[in-house]
Amino acid sequence: MCIFCNLIEGKIPSTKILENDNFLAFEDINPQAKIHALIIPKVHIQSFNEMTPNVMSEMTTFIQEVALTLGVKSDGYRLITNIGQNGNQEVQHIHFHLLAGEQLGRLV
Ligand code: AMP
Ligand code: ZN
Repeated sequence: MCIFCNLIEGKIPSTKILENDNFLAFEDINPQAKIHALIIPKVHIQSFNEMTPNVMSEMTTFIQEVALTLGVKSDGYRLITNIGQNGNQEVQHIHFHLLAGEQLGRLV
């Protein structure tokens, strides 16, 4: 079972930010910004390559709720999903990084 599936089942500790039946948001263990959340579906999907429009649609709403919960919606934030080897994806369970809480450096 993958590390994030174990985390969903509570076998690995996490600091939860928001949760519903299908999604979980929790703090990244190695934050790259003042606020660094990870947002995942509870169903195991390897990466964005395997994502379906239905799950992505529900996840969009959940991510917006996470931004509201964190109080970053109006000031702004960044969403990143790393995909595969060239994308430097380390955990093979799709996750969106939400970075916020400060002025972020420009990437693209
Ligand atoms: P990625 O490189 O996009 O696959 O990102 C994986 C992210 O998962 C990294 O930012 C790690 O810091 C984070 N991470 C790994 N294990 C844990 C954990 N047990 N709890 C919270 N975040 C984790
Ligand atoms: Zn998993």
